[in-house]
Parts: sequence; C-alpha cells; structure tokens
Amino acid sequence: MQNRTFQSLCVSEPKDNKTTQPHRLPLYATSSFVMENTEDAISIFKGQKKGHVYSRYANPTIDAVAQKIADLEGFGQDIRTYGYLTSSGMSAISTLMMALVNSGDSILTQGNLYGGTTELFIKAFGPKGIKTLFHNFDDIEGVIKILKIDTSVKVIYLESPANPTLSCIDLKLISSIAREHRVLTVIDNTFCTPYLQRPLDFGIDFVVHSTTKFLNGMGNSISGVIVGQREDYKDRIWQTLKLMGGTCNSWDAWLINNGLKTLTFRMDKHSENALFLAQNLENHPEILKVNYNGLSSHPYHSIAKKQMSDFGGMISFEVNRDLRGTIEFIDQLKLATHAPTLGDTDTLVLHPVTSSHLNVDKALCREYGISENLVRFSVGLEHKQDILDDVLQALES
Ligand SMILES: *Cc1c(COP(=O)(O)O)cnc(C)c1O
Repeated sequence: MQNRTFQSLCVSEPKDNKTTQPHRLPLYATSSFVMENTEDAISIFKGQKKGHVYSRYANPTIDAVAQKIADLEGFGQDIRTYGYLTSSGMSAISTLMMALVNSGDSILTQGNLYGGTTELFIKAFGPKGIKTLFHNFDDIEGVIKILKIDTSVKVIYLESPANPTLSCIDLKLISSIAREHRVLTVIDNTFCTPYLQRPLDFGIDFVVHSTTKFLNGMGNSISGVIVGQREDYKDRIWQTLKLMGGTCNSWDAWLINNGLKTLTFRMDKHSENALFLAQNLENHPEILKVNYNGLSSHPYHSIAKKQMSDFGGMISFEVNRDLRGTIEFIDQLKLATHAPTLGDTDTLVLHPVTSSHLNVDKALCREYGISENLVRFSVGLEHKQDILDDVLQALES
C-alpha cells in the first residue's frame, strides 16, 4: 500500500478484524456496502447476485430481525413467510397498503381501528382516490353484501382484538369470505404478537405490527414490521418500502431483537396480570363494566378463545363516574403511568376519549362502546397485587 498521510489515515475505515463468529447479532451502523468490483456491483443491482447495497434497502441487522419475526408469524405452519422492518407501525401500514391498493380501489375495514390508521385511510389515502368503507364486522352478512355489490374493494383491513374495547373478528371466517371474493386480507396483530395469535394460520394474507409495543416491549424504539406469505406480492412490497423510504434503522432493529428474547415470558405475565385485574374489578361496585377477552362475560370471549392462545395485557373498564371523575381517577393512580403507548414492561393508563379517540366521531365512539368513563390499561409486569391495589386506592379516593 502506498504511504498515506496522517490526514488520510484519520479518514480511513479500519478493516473488520473479526476472527470468530460474534455470539450476538452485530449492529451494522453503515449506510452502504462496498462493491468488490464493477461487475459485482452490476449483478447485485440487477438482483442477479445476493448482496447488501444500501441500508435504506436493507442491511444484515435489519434483515435478520425481520426474518425472525416472519418465522414467528409462520411458526408451526407449512408456509414460507417473509418480513420487512419499517420505521414505525404507521410506516408498515402505509407501505403495505400503498403496495396493495391503487386509486379507484377501496379498503373495507371496521370503525374501531387504531386512530392513526383511520386518519391515514381518510386523510392521506382519500384525496388520492383510495376510498375506505367502514363497517361493523359483527354484521358478517353486511360484509358479504358489500363484497358482492362493490367490486372496487381490494383489501379487507382488520384489527382483532381492537382498541380499546377488545372486540374480535373471526379470522378464519373473514379470510374464507375474502378469498371467495378475491379480496386480500391484512391484520394489525400488535395487541397479540405471534405468540398469542398467528393470523396467517387462519388464512389472512398479511400481518402488520407496531413493534414499538409488545414485540420490542421495552418502550425504547419506534418501528414496525410487515409479514407476508404471498410470494406474488413480495417484490412489490419491497419496491414500495425502498422507494417510499420507510425502512427501519439498524439500531431499532437491534433493540427489537433484544426485546424478542423475552417475548414469551412477558406475554405470559402480561396475560396473567391482566386477567387478575379483570377478575378483581369485574364485581367491584365502582366499576360498571370490564372489557377483557379472558373474561367469560366478554361478548367476544368465544371468538378470542378460538384464535388466541392467551388474552394479552390490554384491558379497559368503565368507572362509575362522570368525565371529571374519570379524569380524577386516572390522576390518582400512582403505580400506573399515564402515557400514550402500550406493551411496555410497566403498567400504563390512557383515557381514550381525551387522547387516542379525541378526533373520532362521537356517534362512532358510542357505537363501539368508547364512553367518557372508559379507561384503558396496558397491564405491565409488576406484581399483580400492586397493580390491583393501585386501581383500588384510586377508586376509593
Ligand atoms: C401504536 C399502534 C400503531 C402505530 O404504530 P407506531 O409504531 O406508533 O407508528 C398501529 N396499530 C396499533 C394497534 C398500535 O397500537
């Protein structure tokens, strides 16, 4: 090698001196990858040869974690799944839907979606000529009727259980109806994670997650994932992701991988703690109603039981108070933190009508049981008695 100046030595990149395989997935903090020679570069760019190019497309950290989640969603099934990590849950949803629908197409969905998703469909997709039809999926006959009449419907977009009252949709039934009408199905599986529910097993075509929530579970990153089994859409989704630019970064991917290692332990504990809270609040005189899929009194208990292996950490309940009293109850909580996220290790509380559902139509809120006195809990991993005691002391004050 020719003699370098001190300055050039400073600028130079040291060689990777790895001699043995690292035990943990390395964090590739690099925007681009070195091409061996021009011929090599051409065949990689043409897709004839495998190789990383540029981290907006993918990189080894991101790919490894995306495939790990895809494997979890496809677990126990005789299918090959692929996954793409994205910069947020919203980016997973917007990228996938941009890949699946065109102007003139319609999306058929439920009225009680995650607020950001409803806004995306109406405010961002609407003006671009993509229509969204909202329908209550309790009415399956109505869904079939819409599919028969309206051939513009390209995708059925679902959440089960849905925020914050945990309504469920029979995934096997919906996917078979969708197939009959040659309509694609997408589900946001954020509340369950593949540990509790694997929608691809019930014939759903695509799964999205906000990995920000339970999959990472540590509350320290914003990211999302798209998982699919349909090879005919794989390249189109990747193209859309790479061109819209919503790729995840390797640091967040690396954090998700850390969180995934404890996924089963966390989900078991979230479920156990949430059930304990639900059972103890159900007959409390100051609680009017408890929404938890694990309670046999929940209207969607039997559907949930059919397709979920346990009922997760999300619960909501109505306190016997008016709007002001409900806010006072929330402010009296000491262990639970008032924060607009879910799926963290600690218990979080949210008041839907003044936060996530602030911009949602009042009539729609009523239809889906989102009242002024409804409080949502993301039940954490603390000792279950501490969580219950916190709620009880706030109810008494
Ligand atoms: C948080 C959330 C999203 C959005 O995810 P971000 O990571 O915040 O973009 C989508 N769906 C559900 C069910 C969520 O809870």
